[in-house]
Amino acid sequence: MKIFISADMEGISGVATNQQLKTNSEYQRFRKLMTQDVNAAIEGAFFGGATEVVVADGHGNMSNILIEDLDPRARLICGNNRVMCQLEGLDDSFDGIMFVGHHGRENGSERTVISHSLAGICVNEIKINGHIVGETEMNALVAGYYNVPAILITGDDAYVKEVQKTLPDIEAAVVKRGIDRFAAELLHPVKAQELIKEKAERAVKKAKDIPPLKVEGPVTFEIEFKGPNQALMTTTLPTVKLIGPRTITFTCDDIVTAYKHMWGCVIIAMTATNGVLGSVNA
Ligand SMILES: [Zn+2]
Repeated sequence: MKIFISADMEGISGVATNQQLKTNSEYQRFRKLMTQDVNAAIEGAFFGGATEVVVADGHGNMSNILIEDLDPRARLICGNNRVMCQLEGLDDSFDGIMFVGHHGRENGSERTVISHSLAGICVNEIKINGHIVGETEMNALVAGYYNVPAILITGDDAYVKEVQKTLPDIEAAVVKRGIDRFAAELLHPVKAQELIKEKAERAVKKAKDIPPLKVEGPVTFEIEFKGPNQALMTTTLPTVKLIGPRTITFTCDDIVTAYKHMWGCVIIAMTATNGVLGSVNA
């Protein structure tokens, strides 16, 4: 039984503010905690019957997990030039996907900790076929294309509540209570990791009974960016239509193609934030 873990950082045990995730001495502490939370999920997964675990580091530069401290039974996908973004390495050979340390969407609950949708610098809202989605729901739909059910989330209580509207059968480890976007009441990491382990074990045991999240037919994305400069530059792609000063849309035949397309648009939008050639010294 093969399990994929998408690991993010905002929902990791002990994290309450953005400063803890920046490259400074604080960040080094939280990388360690991220690795420990992931290890708790790996341990629970093996207890539950997993025989193989692949972890994809999905936060920031996607190189946060300390491989030397990672459970040696797992393999790690690290580094950020990835066509499939947070889901690089996922395919139909997996039996379940876990989201460890994830967070709520931009403009969702006012209490979800460090909420954003993929790239806080440029994305305001993402809709798939008219429904507003956060990263977890979007990733779960991609996993559904491969018939892989979303089986576990870990993070703050408001994030869990948000995701359970779309994924009612998912197991959840609530490791903190969101107070504000930059404040939380935290469980001690030892307690939080016990909980993650227990829920991961249960999630793997019931994975077969959790239906994958599916979207059939052509998939239409609508992305509202924060600035018109970000939206306009994505129209360099012939598939993209501008439908408002800051909003674009495109349609693809399936969710995997659409997800890659979305990521391409977000990459363009990020680089357009301060002028696409702003940092080029050629
Ligand atoms: Zn993140």
